[in-house]
Amino acid sequence: MIEQIVSGFPYKPEKGCFGFSSCILIRDSKNILFDTGGYNVRSVIKSYLNDIDCVVISHLHFDHCSNLDLFIEKKIPIYISAKELISYNENKDNDSDLFSYFECIKDKLNIIEIDNVFQLSNKVKIIFTLGHTNGHISLEVVDGSNLVLLAGDSIKSYNDYIDTNSYGNAVNPKKYLDTKKIIKKKYDIIYPGHDSVIINGKRGIQMELRQF
Ligand SMILES: [Zn+2]
Repeated sequence: MIEQIVSGFPYKPEKGCFGFSSCILIRDSKNILFDTGGYNVRSVIKSYLNDIDCVVISHLHFDHCSNLDLFIEKKIPIYISAKELISYNENKDNDSDLFSYFECIKDKLNIIEIDNVFQLSNKVKIIFTLGHTNGHISLEVVDGSNLVLLAGDSIKSYNDYIDTNSYGNAVNPKKYLDTKKIIKKKYDIIYPGHDSVIINGKRGIQMELRQF
């Protein structure tokens, strides 16, 4: 039911941003893509295009919402939190993460603004996981007996998961840490924004950095 079509990568270079985030396809009563990744995974997203009924964007950082232009022609619903869009409009001139790409395409997309918990399909719900950004959302999935969270950057990596005090580049550190506490208590399986899956508190797959 849940397929991590791109596994995020927990790597941070000394300068700039590596930005390899998780993109996940859920097959339920409809097929839902959670995050469209960075430009570096464009060909992967493209190969799944005909399979996708709607898209949910966790937040408007470039490494989670690039490739959205691939969905202009399809006109399928793109769910983004209303708060995230307000925050985007307030900050777009001085935040390099909210780049001009989104400004060029946003009016051509079928964006549905979410301002409350939203049942997206039989087993999938959009929930608010605030802190990393002001309008960050995640997907809660009931998969058999497991309660699963597609976390986006509300849990960035396994290291972030185990370190109760880390908040990375959260705009609201207190909210981020409060959200993390709730997530750790509630979910059996977590897909972090920049790592492979965490199952019952343990890392699923250890990834290695390969050289070119
Ligand atoms: Zn982010």
